[in-house]
Amino acid sequence: MSGTPSDSVSPSVPLPPVAPLLWMGEREPPRLRWLSRSLAQVLGRRDGEAWEPALLERIVDPRDLPALRDTWRSAVASRAPRTVEVRVTCPEGGVLRLSIALSLVEGADDAGQVLGMVQVLGAGDTALDPDPATARCEVAELQLTRARRELEELIDSIDGIVWEADASFHFTFVSQQAERLLGYPARQWIEDPSFWVKHLHPDDRDWAASFCRESAERCLPHEFEYRMLTADGRVVWLRDLVTVLTDAGRPHRLRGIMVDVTQQRGAQERLERTVSLLEATLDATTDGLLVVDREGRLTAYNRRFQRMWGVSEDLLTVGQDARMLETARAQVRDPEQFVARVRALYETPDADSFDIIELNDGRVMERSSQPQRHGGVLTGRVWSFRDVTQRVRAARERERLLREAHEAIQVRDDFLSIASHELKTPLTPLRLLLQSLRNALVAGQPVTPERVDKALGQVRRLASLVNDLLDASLVGAGRLDMQRGPVPLQDVVRDVSSDFRDASERHVVTYEAPSEALIVQGDRGRLTQVLSNLVENAIKYSPLGGAVRISLVREGTAAVLSVTDSGIGIPSEEQARLFTRFFRAHNSPVSGFGGLGLGLYICRDIIERHDGRIWVESELGRGSTFRVSLPVRAHSAVQPVTESGGSPP
Ligand code: ADP
Repeated sequence: MSGTPSDSVSPSVPLPPVAPLLWMGEREPPRLRWLSRSLAQVLGRRDGEAWEPALLERIVDPRDLPALRDTWRSAVASRAPRTVEVRVTCPEGGVLRLSIALSLVEGADDAGQVLGMVQVLGAGDTALDPDPATARCEVAELQLTRARRELEELIDSIDGIVWEADASFHFTFVSQQAERLLGYPARQWIEDPSFWVKHLHPDDRDWAASFCRESAERCLPHEFEYRMLTADGRVVWLRDLVTVLTDAGRPHRLRGIMVDVTQQRGAQERLERTVSLLEATLDATTDGLLVVDREGRLTAYNRRFQRMWGVSEDLLTVGQDARMLETARAQVRDPEQFVARVRALYETPDADSFDIIELNDGRVMERSSQPQRHGGVLTGRVWSFRDVTQRVRAARERERLLREAHEAIQVRDDFLSIASHELKTPLTPLRLLLQSLRNALVAGQPVTPERVDKALGQVRRLASLVNDLLDASLVGAGRLDMQRGPVPLQDVVRDVSSDFRDASERHVVTYEAPSEALIVQGDRGRLTQVLSNLVENAIKYSPLGGAVRISLVREGTAAVLSVTDSGIGIPSEEQARLFTRFFRAHNSPVSGFGGLGLGLYICRDIIERHDGRIWVESELGRGSTFRVSLPVRAHSAVQPVTESGGSPP
């Protein structure tokens, strides 16, 4: 490195003033009222302090003051110009020798003023130098020194390292700030050709040096930030703004200013850390978050929000309109209410809100919204969405189970009271019948078979109830007994229809036999039980009497058995539950018959275990048709049917 800081500075030096050096002063006592700018400059006075009444006393050498005053008064008294030579001291300590021509300028009021025309004779506390050219050079030198010192002061007062380097990147000048900032004397920067590179932070050394070199070679002004190591081992972040001076298209010199940005970098790093922490926290939260400003422009969001609503990236640009409202609107069950709520909240920016939103895909979300404030001023709104589908489903499931448990308890209680009533009902007539039979026997009266049959009828009813209860418990445990074999269905139907033919005086039981034998694989006793139950119900639930029609037909590979009555019918909304345990339709009590609600439940189990199906077609008040479909055995040969509806043995 060559040169010193002051060597490298070439401030433009003003030439000595050629404007007249003048002053105006009072007549008596001799003192100044005004100085010309050029004279003030020569005397080293700044504009603000150019004029002061006691200036002469301050700057004129005390040895020359009496002569100046005498000449002044003489010029006033004689009204003729008088000349005097004096020595003046300038603020930087130099001495100038001046020749002053004093003359009275008379005014209208006879007050008059004393005009001083000043000529600089030379510098130094010596005798008068008569050569004006030499004197001008001395003044110029004085001004140059002053200007240079001011420039240095100015450069040193800049809060940054002002530097200059040659085309080989060797510093030729660095300001004093370099030492204050990094602790290395300015001399070291200049003397060590690789000072800058050596003191760069190792992580920045390669890229910063090559960036600077490449930019300089392309003659580009550049700005970059890097770290330097200080003399006491600290790390300082510098922002370097570099200008490249060129000569014939080649870099000639570099000038720049390095500004300490350590604090900004620290603050920026803290800010970046905070932002990244915030982003990580936002993304880690299980809630979907969306922040918008008061105009509805997107401020922030998290990944969870994006995934929750399936919003594409291009709709999520910070600073742009939060256009995902339409996306969300298309997904909710009640879009009108959804949008209305959002609009209402934008109109009341300081309101909080909490809603439950149901989505078309079955998800349920909690939406809460709160105003965002900054320094007490409303700046936007934070929307938070929580997927509560599992929770809501679990709650609904709990409610359903609880309801079912209550219903089951209710059903059980109802069943117990019905069952006890049903079991008791045949017991009373049975007891009375047996009592009367006993009385007759004791009294030696004849006992007719009809009376015994009546008693047996009640016993059968009792037995049937007990059987139903037993079967129902076996069905529940999946243990209902089945003896399988080929069953000619037409025989089953024939037997059951004949059993019921005389069961009721008010009902006419008819049977339409199939034109062919329909043999199914199954348990004849259980299939008989099913048909009996259906016919019994048909009679029971048509209290006004009427026809009970039984038919058996083949439909494709199935035998379809139907029992039709014209009774009370079944409410359509209850038909689906007809085959469940203990279920009794609400209108069944009007039949006047009791029942446990077990028969159809057992029937369905028997039929399903035969790979068949049972269903009902019914209209309230207009009768019902129960149908059973069973697969016909593949080898059931077509056989003629006997007159009675049965097949030949
Ligand atoms: P129960 O007849 O002993 O009550 P079921 O299981 O046989 O039990 O029948 C269940 C319910 O179905 C009955 O309580 C009744 O409400 C209704 N039901 C069954 N068959 C008929 C029918 N043919 N007509 C009208 N309702 C019927």
